Amino acid sequence: MNYCDKCSKEVPLSNDAFAFDSFVAYGRYVSALNILRGSRHLFQTSDCVGSPSRAQYLEGGPLDERPQYKFNPDKMHKFREAYNKLQEFAKNEVEKGNHES
Ligand SMILES: [Zn+2]
Repeated sequence: MNYCDKCSKEVPLSNDAFAFDSFVAYGRYVSALNILRGSRHLFQTSDCVGSPSRAQYLEGGPLDERPQYKFNPDKMHKFREAYNKLQEFAKNEVEKGNHES
């Protein structure tokens, strides 16, 4: 199990912002990203703000108000596709016993 660099709580693979980045950048899971960067919640939790700069492109994600992360509609398709791939991948990993849910 990985722990969030913001709130220190456990991050399930399906909600890991850096695993998500891997699918955005490479279209697949590259574990080196998690090894180098650790983990961070993608969607907010009751204890963690998560990553609004990423979540704002996903369904149900709140808009990131910070000007440096201004919403860019061009990113939406790619981010949503990456998120769907991450969900599929995480589900398989949990089924194989490689990750906890
Ligand atoms: Zn967190």
